[in-house]
Amino acid sequence: TADSKETTTVVVTIMVTSMIAFAFSLITSRQREQLLVLATKDPLTGAGNRRGLDAKLTEIVNTFNRSGAQSSLILLDLDHFKKVNDIHGHAVGDQILKRITEIINLRIRVTDSIYRVGGEEFIVVLEGADLHKAVHLAEQLRTLVDANELVPDHAVTISLGVAELKSGENANDWLHRADEALYRAKDAGRNSTSASA
Ligand code: GH3
Ligand code: MG
Ligand code: MG
Repeated sequence: TADSKETTTVVVTIMVTSMIAFAFSLITSRQREQLLVLATKDPLTGAGNRRGLDAKLTEIVNTFNRSGAQSSLILLDLDHFKKVNDIHGHAVGDQILKRITEIINLRIRVTDSIYRVGGEEFIVVLEGADLHKAVHLAEQLRTLVDANELVPDHAVTISLGVAELKSGENANDWLHRADEALYRAKDAGRNSTSASA
């Protein structure tokens, strides 16, 4: 009959509409997940980005203020990287940034995390590590990069500044001390590690 035909049409329409709505909700939630990754990760190296770093440091400072758990960070910067780009090209420079991230990732622990902050600057955050442990890791990273032939016949090195979070400090104070230490490492001739007292 005409009536049951109409009912069938309505039911089919509702089913198709629901299926489409469901498909779109799936796509949207997947896109939201992808955006979240993009929002906290550097696309070149897969390291965390500035936003990810800020979230992590805030979390660590809050934990420190509650429980006094020690944490440290390593700020590292490639030496004379402008020259590396000038001699070998920007694409080779990008490959070096990726390789250095891999070298760091292979060495750090699950409680450590890595962020790319400037173009050629990285920060390793060591949760639960004191200055001594952080300096030890920094020296390991420096030696590994130095020993790795990242480009043939060209020594690519890094300089590192290390700082342990002190009571009364906020994330910026902490970063600032690591930056001062990095400056001293550069000043000392590069390919070196300096710790903030
Ligand atoms: P220093 O030892 O004092 O750190 O010298 P530097 O040449 O590394 O420092 P400077 O700040 O003068 O230059 C940093 C250079 O890093 C400039 C730029 O060419 C390069 N750089 C920054 N971001 C990227 C990037 O994403 N890819 C490549 N290939 N190079 C980059
Ligand atoms: Mg720099
Ligand atoms: Mg540099």
